Amino acid sequence: MEQAKPSDFIRVNAKNRGLVSKEINLHLGCYEARPDIGAVIHTHPFIITAMGTVLAKRKRLASSMGLGTPSDISSSVAIIKYYQPGSKVLAKAVSKAIKKADCVVMANHGLVVVGRSLKEAYKKTVDIEVNAGKLLAKSIK
Ligand SMILES: [Zn+2]
Repeated sequence: MEQAKPSDFIRVNAKNRGLVSKEINLHLGCYEARPDIGAVIHTHPFIITAMGTVLAKRKRLASSMGLGTPSDISSSVAIIKYYQPGSKVLAKAVSKAIKKADCVVMANHGLVVVGRSLKEAYKKTVDIEVNAGKLLAKSIK
């Protein structure tokens, strides 16, 4: 992301979806659910995705695992169960979860983070993966 250029991005909206990503409904659903945001980032970070997969099965809340506040940004983390990537049910589940949390871990899939700006959403994305790594390291000791 640090090396991304404007030409690496594609501008879309609800009317002009194009063929940008099979997760376009997920992104648009976040914007509809959260009028306060200006960016949605969907990634597949390894550690938080693995943790989310385990936690979703145990029905535990991310906040109880210390993932609730990435660094200096006041955010919350929600975990949802696995849904088929690109499906409308996934987009709907994320839209519902993102109303209450800035970060949604999708079990067996990845992460969705929203922010007022791309920079803020990116910082949260990095922070949650770093925090998940620290938590994992602590659990191994
Ligand atoms: Zn994905």
